[in-house]
Amino acid sequence: MEKLLTVLGASGSKTKTTGTISFQVDKHILIDAGNIFEKYECDTNQIEYVFISHSHFDHILELPFLIENGFTTRRKQLHIYGLPETITHIKQFMFNDYIWPDFSLIPLLTTGEKSIVFKEFNFDEVITIGNVSLRPFKVNHIVPTAGFIVKRGNRGLLISSDTYKTELLWELANNNPEIKYIVIEVSFESMLSRLAEVSKHLTPKLLDEELNKLKRTDLEIFIYHVKESSFAKIINELSEFENLKKFNVKILPKELI
Ligand SMILES: [Zn+2]
Ligand SMILES: [Zn+2]
Repeated sequence: MEKLLTVLGASGSKTKTTGTISFQVDKHILIDAGNIFEKYECDTNQIEYVFISHSHFDHILELPFLIENGFTTRRKQLHIYGLPETITHIKQFMFNDYIWPDFSLIPLLTTGEKSIVFKEFNFDEVITIGNVSLRPFKVNHIVPTAGFIVKRGNRGLLISSDTYKTELLWELANNNPEIKYIVIEVSFESMLSRLAEVSKHLTPKLLDEELNKLKRTDLEIFIYHVKESSFAKIINELSEFENLKKFNVKILPKELI
């Protein structure tokens, strides 16, 4: 059975030992493009769909190489999905011929089709590819940002993307029993609450408060997007807050079944 999620990158920082955000939903489908090549096990020309949660660099940084690497033999178009604002900014600031060629105008050498197809989605639109569905939902970050409910059959998980305090995420978790896992960001230690507020990220203390909104106890909760300089402090803090202990919140492992 295919894994519901394989982690290609889950750190809030790019360092010698950590890569930024990218998840493999299946061989053809990724969420975010922060760290693909180090961990993706097949030929990256098999990747046909990339769902971008928002335009920040830690979520898009390997997109240019995803299309460039293996270009001469690529047979499948690369579909880049995002909110309208995200797509606009990726086109305007990345594939603009100044930073990187506009591959949406360059045909594949193998089939003659456009190599990149940009696709806009809206919040709450369900996109189905094969036996996987993705439902983007609105979170609270400094640019328009989508979290995702990912489902395969009756198994589902919710990924927050980058967010500060939010109501909708917890409503969705409370009302969708097929969601078995919550994968939620925690970027900074609780001492950095002011930085978290202005950059719209969570801390362990904020997640502890957010968890008062969760009415279910049958979910597993994992954190990701930890800034490397905050990692040790955040791990310690997981055992310091009541709700984090009650829900047994853990750091995200490499795979979710
Ligand atoms: Zn961000
Ligand atoms: Zn981020």
